[in-house]
Amino acid sequence: MLLDDGRDLYKGMPTSAAPVIEYLRQLEARGVTHVNVDDEARLILREFYMRARKQGGSITASRASTPAPTTSSATAAPSAPQVAKKGTERPLPAGNTAAKKLASLKSQVLQWPAIKQLQSLRKTMVFSVGNPSADIMLIGEAPGFDEERLGEPFVGKAGQKLNGILKAMGLEREQVYITNLVKFRPSIPNQTTNNRKPTPEEVAACLPFVSEEVKIVAPKVIIALGSTAAQGLLGKKASVASLRGSFHDYQGVPLRVTYHPSYILHNEATSEKRKLWEDMLSVMEYMGMPISEKQRGYFAS
Ligand code: URA
Repeated sequence: MLLDDGRDLYKGMPTSAAPVIEYLRQLEARGVTHVNVDDEARLILREFYMRARKQGGSITASRASTPAPTTSSATAAPSAPQVAKKGTERPLPAGNTAAKKLASLKSQVLQWPAIKQLQSLRKTMVFSVGNPSADIMLIGEAPGFDEERLGEPFVGKAGQKLNGILKAMGLEREQVYITNLVKFRPSIPNQTTNNRKPTPEEVAACLPFVSEEVKIVAPKVIIALGSTAAQGLLGKKASVASLRGSFHDYQGVPLRVTYHPSYILHNEATSEKRKLWEDMLSVMEYMGMPISEKQRGYFAS
């Protein structure tokens, strides 16, 4: 099949559909029941199917012993691919370790249709940093100027504050997993160093990735930093003041809401620092981390 510009669509592609079927079977074995098939992929699959029929064969993986699928649409006949309902598409991270799955997830962000369609985010992706199997996962809102420049979440002033909070908890940055709800810096016309909060649409477009990150990292506890992260994850329009003080649930993981480190940077009042610190003490207690008298007393004035 030729493309408009004369290139052969199949040039360089495997002549057999077996690897595709094999991949779909792997997904099915991991419990995936739906895959998103775009128009181009649908064309290619249909072409495979027609070729196999012409040759009198059938499209099967090389493993002859594999029984024919019965319930999963992931291995349905290519002529009738199941497309996930609009808005319910999920990224499909591949790999057999958390680090590989995260790398696979990251590789899908730039091509994610809901994000591409927005055109309100900048082009440099900032994904996550830290331990892929961390017990504690911290989620912020979106990268800013410094994060975009260095390609890492929380590396500017708010990041330094966060590092200080972690240190006070007895943790190194490398021990936890740090990510943002939105994977690109929200854009502003004539933008220099100024940042803006992500919109609910930007959050919604990126949320499937955070959801997968939580599944992959499988932390014991999540800390939502600030109202954007808390509202995006919990699907509630409520203030940090009203959400903090108890554990919530995100995909079966206990989630604690606290103030964003930049709020503390702009509000140096001891009472506000103490509130954030009490949230961290709750997380430490929940995790069974040792807490010294000195730690208990921080900002208690
Ligand atoms: N603020 C955030 O929410 N995330 C960052 O990565 C940096 C600042």
